[in-house]
Amino acid sequence: MKKKNKQFAVIGLGRFGTSVATTLYTLGYEVLAIDADEDRIQKFSEEVTHVVQADTTDENSLKALGIRNFDVVVVAIGEDVQANVLTTLLLKDLGVKHIVAKARNELHGKMLSKIGADRVVYPERDMGQRVAHNLVSTNVLEYIELSPDLSIVEITAPKTLIGQSLAQANLRAKYEVNVVAIKRGAELIVPPQPDENIKPGDIIIFVGQTKGIQKLEEME
Ligand code: ADP
Repeated sequence: MKKKNKQFAVIGLGRFGTSVATTLYTLGYEVLAIDADEDRIQKFSEEVTHVVQADTTDENSLKALGIRNFDVVVVAIGEDVQANVLTTLLLKDLGVKHIVAKARNELHGKMLSKIGADRVVYPERDMGQRVAHNLVSTNVLEYIELSPDLSIVEITAPKTLIGQSLAQANLRAKYEVNVVAIKRGAELIVPPQPDENIKPGDIIIFVGQTKGIQKLEEME
């Protein structure tokens, strides 16, 4: 497999870090995985480009790894908040271009942003939201909150909408949402035209106001 140019480092091989690192590697990127724990490193050696045992709260270890040269560094240390924050701070000080850090809660996230993390992720919170939306409505396949008021959702076309064109369904006026794409089997219709008829089994992808999206989720 030809390696793509962007280079990633993932620090902390817990459940989240492992998943990020192996996915990037599978996508064809070079990935350096770092963990303080020798056992984790041993288990992981086949899954990514390089694995290194290092304590990333130690500035010299980070320097020795040449961490500055990576395009993106993901701080996936979970339980040890102090190590997570300190690592992020050191990465920022060393001039890492793009830092993605995992937060346990909102306060921790705020702190990471203040320190200079370019992106803060909340995997448990986000997955919890998705599962909850899927439990409330079996039509919901994917749910991503962009902000408290704005979301993207992927739902199986409710019976009520089948046979209507997008113009007839008039979802923008009724629910303040825009249909960005329709998945029909292997076909992806982007952007769908107003005269596109909604068919059974269609998967509709909306972006719009969370309130309106909730109403759509409840539609039979
Ligand atoms: P998750 O909740 O995603 O499973 P964990 O907190 O269980 O994450 O795992 C985080 C990983 O980060 C562990 O493998 C741990 O050894 C590693 N880790 C913790 N502190 C450091 C540190 N200072 N330097 C490098 N790795 C660390």
